[in-house]
Amino acid sequence: MLAPFDLIALDADDTLWHNEPKFYATQEQFRALLTGYHTPAWIDERLHETEKRNLAHFGYGVKGFVLSMIETAVELTEGRVSGQEVKQIIDLGRSMLTAPVELIDGVREAVEQLSRDYQLALLTKGDLFDQETKLARSGLGELFSHVEIVSEKNAVTYLAVMKRRGVEPSRFLMVGNSLRSDVLPVLEAGGAAVHVPYPLTWAHEEVPEDALAGKHFARLQHIRELSEWLGTQAASR
Ligand SMILES: [Mg+2]
Repeated sequence: MLAPFDLIALDADDTLWHNEPKFYATQEQFRALLTGYHTPAWIDERLHETEKRNLAHFGYGVKGFVLSMIETAVELTEGRVSGQEVKQIIDLGRSMLTAPVELIDGVREAVEQLSRDYQLALLTKGDLFDQETKLARSGLGELFSHVEIVSEKNAVTYLAVMKRRGVEPSRFLMVGNSLRSDVLPVLEAGGAAVHVPYPLTWAHEEVPEDALAGKHFARLQHIRELSEWLGTQAASR
């Protein structure tokens, strides 16, 4: 039976391992640091605005997040944030970068099974160094034929990955937790996508459901359902 795809790319953060809870917990500590100055809701709003504005300059990942927290702290305290407090923010970032990589339950078995029948790529955005060390610490490295760490996930970068790997768009499948990054641009590039939601979603990654109206993609509750879903795809092609 012909396999339905030549290459399956898997997102990493919140698809293979837990990530957003670390940002969430750090943001909670950041809020506590500024609690004497503003309300939690206003701190969150200003931080989100700063992060959004800085993405084009610092890119995705922990380092950009740390710089945005520092900038927000300076802004919200009108310059009164102390050197000691800035150091605390940097320490928060360092803890995130050295925290253990916690695989989502069942991921190892699911990826092992997929790797027996398919070429797998890890396709993620963020800091190159951070993502590489997370993959190494995850213990999943040997299951992937390719690792692609990109600065932004859009139709152009997906097409570039397909071209680099010699895969036709219709033979490419992306699997991930973000509709904005892992689903919509892949469909735009002519590939297929499977959405595996994660309980927490960064505000920046949220898209209205109506953006998906009429799009052909699948939503699975867990990555362990992927093999079975692939079986149904093979049968229908
Ligand atoms: Mg993700």
